[in-house]
Amino acid sequence: MRIPFIAGNWKMYKNIKEAAEFAREFKKNYVASDVQVAICAPFTQLSVLVEAFKGTGIKVGAQNMHFEEQGAFTGEVSGAMLKEIGVDYCIIGHSERRQYFGETDETVNKKLHVAFRYEILPILCVGEVLAERDEGRALSVVAAQTEAALYGLTAEQVERLTIAYEPVWAIGTGRTATPGQADEMCGHIRSVIAGLYGEDVSDKVVIQYGGSVKPDNATELMNMYEIDGALVGGASLSPDDFMKIVNF
Ligand code: PGA
Repeated sequence: MRIPFIAGNWKMYKNIKEAAEFAREFKKNYVASDVQVAICAPFTQLSVLVEAFKGTGIKVGAQNMHFEEQGAFTGEVSGAMLKEIGVDYCIIGHSERRQYFGETDETVNKKLHVAFRYEILPILCVGEVLAERDEGRALSVVAAQTEAALYGLTAEQVERLTIAYEPVWAIGTGRTATPGQADEMCGHIRSVIAGLYGEDVSDKVVIQYGGSVKPDNATELMNMYEIDGALVGGASLSPDDFMKIVNF
């Protein structure tokens, strides 16, 4: 039985005051349910959110971490540092990091290993660009990304993994994948994991859809068989919109 998981990805938005305001507003209407909820925020807002959400069940995630434990890596933040402040999740391999910051399948894989070492639960992002979909290569591209990311992970680790299928052409564009397209790919990812680790493991992996998820399309997406949750960018910045998605 997979628990639905709705995560917000604030990207590089909100200052500390705005994060605290969001938390106050969101908590007012939040009723704990069998839906797991997390906000993935910029590094400087994480402590504020951990404190604000204490005792509510709402989890806090980072959006990136380095793959080394420590060292001369100016500008980077380690898994141990995130763990120290009480962060539960970390987005790894978001397409914006792959596109603008040189993230590769190899660095994504290393980051997954170190996240599990620190008991930070990774939200691994995979997804094809528009040209790859138009050329009919979406399934194979996403399968390859998934396999490369999981290299060397144990079954026990993979069971605790969240994967977000985010077609790059749907992120921040207002153009959502159809529920059918999203469901097909989430099922495909699950079958890739089944091929590597068996169905007992793949049945436990939470697979989210991400890319222009809004209050008015969340229900339809969440009702699809293979879609267990959503990774929400723009619509997670508003406590009202995010609450509507959480209550899909
Ligand atoms: P979006 O972003 O909901 O604004 O499309 C999703 C994401 O990048 O995780």
